[in-house]
Amino acid sequence: MLAVDDIPCAVMITDLQGHIVRLNREFLALVGAEEASWQGRSVDALLTPASRIFSQTHLFPTLHHAAVVREIYLHLVGADGEPVPVMVNAVRKRNEGVDTIIWAFFVARERSRFEAELIRARADAQSLAQRLAASNAQVEEQNRHLSELSLSDPLTGLKNRRALELAAQQWQLREGEGAAASLLMVDVDHFKRINDLHGHPEGDRALIAVARQLQASARGTDLVARYGGEEFVIWLPDADAQAAARVAQRVHEHIERVRTAAGHITVSVGLVSGPHEAAPDFLARLVKRADEAVYAAKSQGRNRTVTSP
Ligand code: GH3
Ligand code: MG
Ligand code: MG
Repeated sequence: MLAVDDIPCAVMITDLQGHIVRLNREFLALVGAEEASWQGRSVDALLTPASRIFSQTHLFPTLHHAAVVREIYLHLVGADGEPVPVMVNAVRKRNEGVDTIIWAFFVARERSRFEAELIRARADAQSLAQRLAASNAQVEEQNRHLSELSLSDPLTGLKNRRALELAAQQWQLREGEGAAASLLMVDVDHFKRINDLHGHPEGDRALIAVARQLQASARGTDLVARYGGEEFVIWLPDADAQAAARVAQRVHEHIERVRTAAGHITVSVGLVSGPHEAAPDFLARLVKRADEAVYAAKSQGRNRTVTSP
């Protein structure tokens, strides 16, 4: 007959309450001491505190109910006092009229090491993902900032010529036949005098003040851009000449509020409207006509709006 000691894994036999009846050689090699010193003691004596709780709340109830447990992961207290991770199968058996539990233990150090590695790797991956998300957010923020910068005028904070071109292109793509757009070219009258008489910084302050008033004159859907030195454009999508003339009127009223070291300032405005066109030079032609209208306004005495024919 096969002896328990010949089985190549740690084997234990207990009664139904978990009192130790037998421990084979392999088992004793794990937990140390003589078999006799264990006999009659509770299984609890072999387990770490956490495994003891698990054994009482899960292992024994399952054995009583289902007569078998498989692949339960526990920790024995090893001969050196250190926990020994083990995988346990156990089965309830009636042997020569006595109910017993036969337990087979397989040392699972590799599994523990592997689990620890997995946990570490998961933590590493999580922190990597967090760092990645943070740096992505940073890059997005920088990109937003850059594209904001590339579309605005640093002195006045208004949009720049590039932003105007983009807005016009978008309108051309979005709208179709029947739509119209207008554009106001605004040029400060005798601006050079401010620079000449009061210095360039005062000129800059005047430009900033003009920009603020132009923005206040425009509608929410309009785009106010600094086109060049002291020339500004208000792009009025979906506005006909009449609507644009109302905005131009507001521009003159608002500009009257600007005070510089040189006193009041005025502007000359060229107004142009055009039906929708998909042509790539649509904006350039509007700007050219608006320029000509500004020139006409200058020659008619400045401080006025001239509408391009
Ligand atoms: P007009 O009524 O005919 O438009 O006269 P003007 O003096 O406004 O016309 P002009 O185009 O001769 O002068 C524009 C001036 O704007 C010349 C330039 O030195 C000045 N200027 C251009 N950009 C800036 C700027 O960023 N800051 C300041 N302070 N001045 C600027
Ligand atoms: Mg000018
Ligand atoms: Mg000018």
